[in-house]
Amino acid sequence: MLLGRYPDESIYIAIFFMDCMIKEGSIVLPGDIVAMAEELIPGQGTFQDNGAIRSSMIGKFKVDRKKMLAVVEPLTGKPLILEEGNVVICEVKQVMDNLILTNIIHVAGKKRQIARESDAALFIANISDEFVTHPSTKYRIGDILRARIVKVDPLIQISTKGKEFGVIKAFCTNCRKPLIKKDNILECPVCGRKEERKMADDYGTGNIDRVI
Ligand SMILES: [Zn+2]
Repeated sequence: MLLGRYPDESIYIAIFFMDCMIKEGSIVLPGDIVAMAEELIPGQGTFQDNGAIRSSMIGKFKVDRKKMLAVVEPLTGKPLILEEGNVVICEVKQVMDNLILTNIIHVAGKKRQIARESDAALFIANISDEFVTHPSTKYRIGDILRARIVKVDPLIQISTKGKEFGVIKAFCTNCRKPLIKKDNILECPVCGRKEERKMADDYGTGNIDRVI
């Protein structure tokens, strides 16, 4: 944000919005603001939300300068086979009574795509070292988790036990805005709602390539 007045307001606006746009080539998570709607048009992998352009997926932020599009491209490359011990980034798809269904969207430290769409189950006993009464007290649909693969056959199973594992990004169940960490609780910057999660110790930093 700039202080002071500029004789030409368009210069002020240009500088202000340059501040908002993130660096091209940055790795972004679903929900991250990549640019403002005044400077670019939402393209592939993005959507518009209250004047901001947000990423709808995990990927690399790029600008198509010809069409002035904000684009998020999936991380591509040689297909990758998932193995026991891999640290993965997952999106919560469904919360059930004794387990959580997730979709693996990235393998930490490997800038390659996963061979196929990969579902992974997180059983209640693998959520935390502490006792968990119900999975919904720790994770909600749309949460982005860091987990470790503990089993690949016949079904991929993950664990979020340990301080490095848990949500790295979570959204307000009320208004879907990304929640901000305040001490040991998550708070919505828009509606003020407070929510509990099993958080990774680096919640909010967006470090999807941390290998543990
Ligand atoms: Zn909210």
